[in-house]
Amino acid sequence: MIPAIGGFIFWVLFLAGFAVLRWPAMRRARRTRTAADKRSVGDVSRLVLAVVGLFVLPLVWRITGWPSSFDRSQSWLIVGTGVLAGAAFLWLFRRSHKDLGRNWSVSLELREGHRLVTGGVYAHMRHPMYTSFLLWGLMQALLVANLFAGLAGLAAVLLLIALRLPHEEAMMAETFGDEWTTYAARTKRLVPGLF
Ligand code: SAH
Repeated sequence: MIPAIGGFIFWVLFLAGFAVLRWPAMRRARRTRTAADKRSVGDVSRLVLAVVGLFVLPLVWRITGWPSSFDRSQSWLIVGTGVLAGAAFLWLFRRSHKDLGRNWSVSLELREGHRLVTGGVYAHMRHPMYTSFLLWGLMQALLVANLFAGLAGLAAVLLLIALRLPHEEAMMAETFGDEWTTYAARTKRLVPGLF
């Protein structure tokens, strides 16, 4: 098998892994009541853009070949690195979902009885699920042998996170006050010890 095909098959498998892990949380979220809804049109539009970048564009590229002028060569070394990034993505994604439990929402919402989670992977960074999405973007960039379709996911995730983080942190600070300030003082946002 050639590396470009092998890489794409791994990309499909990681996407399937994501769907399997996300499904129970989506079902539970539908049954969990919302206390405060801070969703905005901008944030929801950027979620749609993330779906296009992380799912639609790589599929379109594989099926139609568009945009072929951005095709790049692929090697098993790059595919192997992509598989490592994908494994890290799924691990961190699963851990953060487990730790967040019923407090999870796809956009910005506060649940009834919302609790501030500071343990598990949240003890090491404040936004482990977003870090896992960055690893997803990296995995896609490495496994999809087209610069446009490959990098589209990372670009969309970066945009979503950059514009959402300030609002999410303000919402948490407003809701949890000192508890949040203390937690934020001892943790970094996305990369433990760095940022
Ligand atoms: N930013 C987090 C959570 C993403 S899910 C992460 O990347 O892991 C988004 C929802 O999670 C937000 O609407 C917010 O209500 C909730 N949330 C974010 N951080 C939280 C925390 N430390 N404890 C409890 N809920 C949190």
